Amino acid sequence: MRFVTRAAAASLSFSAVTCVLGVLGVLGVACGSSGGGGDAFDAGPTPDGGSIDDGAPATDAGESDASTYPAFKPDIGLIVKGPGPVLTAPKIVTIVWTADPSYKTYEAFCDGIGKSAYWKTALTEYGVGPAVSGGHVEITDPPPASFDVATANDEILAFVKKGVLGAPQNAWPVPDDQTFYLLIIPETVAINNNGKDDCANNVGYHVEAAIGSHPHVAYGIVAEKCHDYLPNLVDNTTETASHEIGETATDPHTETDNGWLGFDPDHYAFELWQNQQDETADACEFFDDSYYKDPELGAWVQRLWSNAAAKAGKNPCLPAPDEAYFNVTPLSTEPITTTGTTGKVHHTRGFHVPVGTQKTINVGFYSDRPTADWTLEPMELDGLAAPKTSHVTFRVDQPIGNNGKTAKVTISVTAAPAFGTQLLVTLVSSRSKTQQHYLPILIETG
Ligand SMILES: [Zn+2]
Repeated sequence: MRFVTRAAAASLSFSAVTCVLGVLGVLGVACGSSGGGGDAFDAGPTPDGGSIDDGAPATDAGESDASTYPAFKPDIGLIVKGPGPVLTAPKIVTIVWTADPSYKTYEAFCDGIGKSAYWKTALTEYGVGPAVSGGHVEITDPPPASFDVATANDEILAFVKKGVLGAPQNAWPVPDDQTFYLLIIPETVAINNNGKDDCANNVGYHVEAAIGSHPHVAYGIVAEKCHDYLPNLVDNTTETASHEIGETATDPHTETDNGWLGFDPDHYAFELWQNQQDETADACEFFDDSYYKDPELGAWVQRLWSNAAAKAGKNPCLPAPDEAYFNVTPLSTEPITTTGTTGKVHHTRGFHVPVGTQKTINVGFYSDRPTADWTLEPMELDGLAAPKTSHVTFRVDQPIGNNGKTAKVTISVTAAPAFGTQLLVTLVSSRSKTQQHYLPILIETG
């Protein structure tokens, strides 16, 4: 299993109609995971629900104190810790080809990120300490025309194996339990799977392999040819590198013993919203405001998910932008049991609305400081796309609100899902197309 970096940025548009066209048209192709898509979470480890001890949803459906920020306790997903370790003192080994005109920039970025305020702000709560440079491997031979990542003959894995087994005579540092090898693969190198272009699934990833006497070698790639979001190649490369470095620090043993991975069982809606991409960087990758040029690093990075900030009603992606965070929260979810495309049963929380019926739920507006009003619009969609045919309609009594206000959202299930008994609804809080926040909720239709 490997973790794909942001498959696409969901610029969810304000109107439901253009959202379907925009998201599916622009982003549908890029949606996908070589980790197995919808089955990835089902096959994954059981999250440790015990670590979430204070995430009980608020039940008060009335008006709240608008002078308290946030006025409502957000009923929001939290990433859970598996039994595996985190990297407490990561060593980042940057592997570059000297044919890449930007290789020195990437070395400097990877050397500096671990001592930055960005790193400290985003990773301290997970038990990750400062990262240091683990050295550089500068490959002077011309890069290959392509790497094929087919599972049966993964040429990137073979490349890493050769490097680790040849260390230190070949100038690769010998790994220890804090080492992360990050390959920055030049733009000239195609990334294929069984000979076919597979860039959409390999913008970047990190993974674990047993190599020689080293059972848990953590390595990752950023494939420059597959750059997907930021128009500038170097910006996109450092942003993707920050995603993979941050995730490796919080979940280095991807194949054997996961660290921070997956949302708590009461919030299976967040898993579905994320398309089962559910590590600390994944959980922020679909938000436009997660990408910024960090002034200290002088480079583009991606913000990482923070359970502490999410619980506190603040922007859950850190370091947070210097602006008010606003969102809405359901005020009294119910225990539900759903099945999806795989048929696997999920005991989680949401709302039970059988096909052909409707239910009115209470939703609270909250922000972390005073801010202008925003608009609530429920939509049937996940972080990447809306379904081609709708199964649900909505009515909102008070769609414009502010901290402390409530709205009644009537959810009418008009058609059964294509598979199983679950529908994903996203409460979209908007001020403009680029100022939006999302709260997914799950509907049991059976
Ligand atoms: Zn990721």
